[in-house]
Amino acid sequence: MAQEIVYAGIDIGGTNIKYGLVDSRGRVLFKEQRPTMVEKGAEPLMHLVTNIAERLLYHAAEEDHPVKWLGVGTPGAVDSRTGKVISLSPNIEGWQGMEIGRILRDRLNLAVYVDNDVNSMALAESRFGAAVGYKSVFCTAVGTGVGGAIVLDGTLWRGANFTAGEIGHVSINANGPQCRCGNRGCLETYCSSAAMLGTIKNRLSNGLTPAFEDVLEGNIENLTVKKLFAAAKKSDEIALDVISETAQYLGTALAGVVNLLNPEIVVVGGGVADGGAGFLETVTAEIRKRAFSTAVDNLRVARASLGNDAGFIGAGILGETRS
Ligand SMILES: [Zn+2]
Repeated sequence: MAQEIVYAGIDIGGTNIKYGLVDSRGRVLFKEQRPTMVEKGAEPLMHLVTNIAERLLYHAAEEDHPVKWLGVGTPGAVDSRTGKVISLSPNIEGWQGMEIGRILRDRLNLAVYVDNDVNSMALAESRFGAAVGYKSVFCTAVGTGVGGAIVLDGTLWRGANFTAGEIGHVSINANGPQCRCGNRGCLETYCSSAAMLGTIKNRLSNGLTPAFEDVLEGNIENLTVKKLFAAAKKSDEIALDVISETAQYLGTALAGVVNLLNPEIVVVGGGVADGGAGFLETVTAEIRKRAFSTAVDNLRVARASLGNDAGFIGAGILGETRS
């Protein structure tokens, strides 16, 4: 009997690099993570990724897992033919132009596939997660930034120059705040963990409410997305308001996507979506309120189901459509 294929994937995140081995049914056989340490710069980060790739392949060999290629997901737009980062990635200085694919291929003597991190996540959710069985999928990840990806008939739609799906930089207010991309009023300026925390800090500038006093142990500097959702679970009105407003902004942009693509399913992932407190329900209601009824009649809106593993699982299967 032929040995079952095992996928090796690495997900380079702004905070952590997650990596692992996955079998053909999507079961995680091995996983680990290491801090990204972006402050060290692009070159040291590339050394770390190379080191992780070798460790991952060495571990696969130790366990007799046959690995045919390595997949890598990274922030930024990626030329998936070469594995080169072609756009700025605001979280990793100097990452634009990094030839991740070439460097790893030269070093490992193995096929290496590189793509955008949210593209990887969307592929994983389509193959093993919340979007199994759906032919047209829009996937969005709401965390430090807001990303998106399109999967049609099991294949990523990357666009003419690897930039498709960037819902985070769809403007929802022509005169809104300046975004780091140069545009104004991008969804990301309203709907990202940084935007939410900024709004909360503003509204608490005259003092903490009892719920925030409790979850933050009296210090606003302890504020994180998790703490914000913890305050919401204590029925804090400011927390609930900000979560609801954020969900409405996301739903507004997604209604546009739904009218444009008429997908079967919208999958929402990332740290903000995982918090609960009615976030996904409000997103869904806003989409249904704003989009054409014909576009939402058969639409499903679901939370991503693979959590933090989605990035490296999806990276691992990037090579499938090429072989
Ligand atoms: Zn923008």
